[in-house]
Amino acid sequence: MAASRDGFHWTPSTGLQDGLPTIGLVQPAHFDAPCAAGHNYDVIVIGAGYAGLVAARDLTTQGKNVLVVEGRDRLGGRTWHSTIDGFNYEMGGTWIHWHMPHIYREVSLYGLHNDWLVTQNPGSREDYFTVTAGSKQWAFTHEEEDTVIGRVWEKFCNVDGNDLRETWKFAFGTGQSPELLAQWDKVTCQERLEQIQSELSPLDTAVLVAFLQQMGGASLDRMGLLNALHWWVLGTHEPLGLNRIALHTRLSCGHSELHRRIFTHARSTGRLSYRFNAAVTHIKDMGNTTTVTTRDGSTYTASSVVCTVPLNVLSSIVFDPPLSMGKQAAANAGQVNHCNKVHVDLRGPDYMSWTAFSSPGQGLICAIGDRLTPHNDSHMVSFGPDPSAENGVQLNNIDGVKSAFLAMLPAEKRQEVVINRIVSHNWNDDEFSKGTWCYLPVGTASKYLEELQAPHGNVLFASADFSDGWRGWIDGAVQSGMQAAHRILTQPAESKSLWPAASL
Ligand SMILES: Cc1cc2nc3c(=O)[nH]c(=O)nc-3n(C[C@H](O)[C@H](O)[C@H](O)COP(=O)(O)OP(=O)(O)OC[C@H]3O[C@@H](n4cnc5c(N)ncnc54)[C@H](O)[C@@H]3O)c2cc1C
Repeated sequence: MAASRDGFHWTPSTGLQDGLPTIGLVQPAHFDAPCAAGHNYDVIVIGAGYAGLVAARDLTTQGKNVLVVEGRDRLGGRTWHSTIDGFNYEMGGTWIHWHMPHIYREVSLYGLHNDWLVTQNPGSREDYFTVTAGSKQWAFTHEEEDTVIGRVWEKFCNVDGNDLRETWKFAFGTGQSPELLAQWDKVTCQERLEQIQSELSPLDTAVLVAFLQQMGGASLDRMGLLNALHWWVLGTHEPLGLNRIALHTRLSCGHSELHRRIFTHARSTGRLSYRFNAAVTHIKDMGNTTTVTTRDGSTYTASSVVCTVPLNVLSSIVFDPPLSMGKQAAANAGQVNHCNKVHVDLRGPDYMSWTAFSSPGQGLICAIGDRLTPHNDSHMVSFGPDPSAENGVQLNNIDGVKSAFLAMLPAEKRQEVVINRIVSHNWNDDEFSKGTWCYLPVGTASKYLEELQAPHGNVLFASADFSDGWRGWIDGAVQSGMQAAHRILTQPAESKSLWPAASL
């Protein structure tokens, strides 16, 4: 299988090797549909992540002549999988669910509705939950794990005494009280933790801090409370709702397979052209048309553009005319999630059911037993904080990653465990993501979300980072891509300036 330049892989025998095999690689990287003479298109879609792929599919299947321009050599953006020795490693976005309606539509449309795998399976020898806080360690059953996580997460989010059941009823709705949202958006997760600290035991605090850091990939003073509350509501206002929906099921075939199906569908229309390995540097809107320029100086023209680059990448593209002050301010504030995600395969089947939290952790803060590999090793998914944080680890420091992982194990087990493989993608040093999944800092969502969603002349924006609904998740990407395509398809050309901005 051909390899993308993204990601890396380490084993004791090969050492560290850059690049990973994936079915998401697009070769050849350039293709012109027969109708694309003269590089004039109806729509240029920038980015081939879920938002871009869905937008391109919806536009081409509705008769539009579309060019996709993507900086990477592969499909999928912040979701893709690599198959190594018969096992699918999801390098970015992984868990999806039928309670995520937009991505589930894609899953069922392309016949993958029976293709589920479950993470966290019971029955291996080390079937328990370890919490480490400094030199202290606790061991719990998974039932106890659910109880403590559910209890602290609910306490944290219960800012109105009624679990937001009335004050934030509709997770996908845009009609919440702006005053309440603005009020919650003034508070950081650190401040909220301090508000409830007296009600938490040391164990509760360790679990809650690790849980929040695993969600937001930043120190708690950089994470906005509003983002956490939104995810609580998305988790159906239930203590374990978020975990059950968003950390549980994944596609057996891997996300790159679903990307290929969407991409192939768009190609089958005969109206899809594309450029991979083509980073967009400039977007110039000239009223009737818009020109997109790539790093090698190539220019392409279209009536409309759908820009799907992540929030943290937006300011690296030069817009003419410049983006509104609000968009610029939001792009400069960015999203704060710079976590590391690391796959660790442990020799033998013993740890498939094991889970761990570590607070503050020595580079990694959680481990989740996933499944057995074809070689009967325990595949673990682990997350760590921002590598530049005091408790972070740089991914190219393999010894550091190994000891960070081992530090989460019960002390008496550390000597016996053998790490057979490490696989990861450095999303933070990646110029096309500059971070992982979106977690917004304090004061951002209530202030800039509408502005981020609004078109800029002929340019529409679609991204999981500022979608409604599952903002920060795969589902949000699909939703926003679908909405951008729909706007283009339903709006007469002469009334583009009347495109309504979506609201929070
Ligand atoms: C480590 C990790 C774990 C995650 N886990 C989950 C999970 O379990 N479940 C879940 O639902 N979500 C998860 N997410 C979040 C989810 O993957 C993202 O929210 C979603 O995939 C974003 O899709 P998108 O299309 O909005 O953006 P992206 O996928 O980032 O797509 C944007 C595209 O634009 C391209 N691009 C950027 N700049 C340029 C440029 N200048 N020129 C041309 N192209 C450019 C990028 O290469 C990319 O392909 C995770 C993300 C990460 C990184």
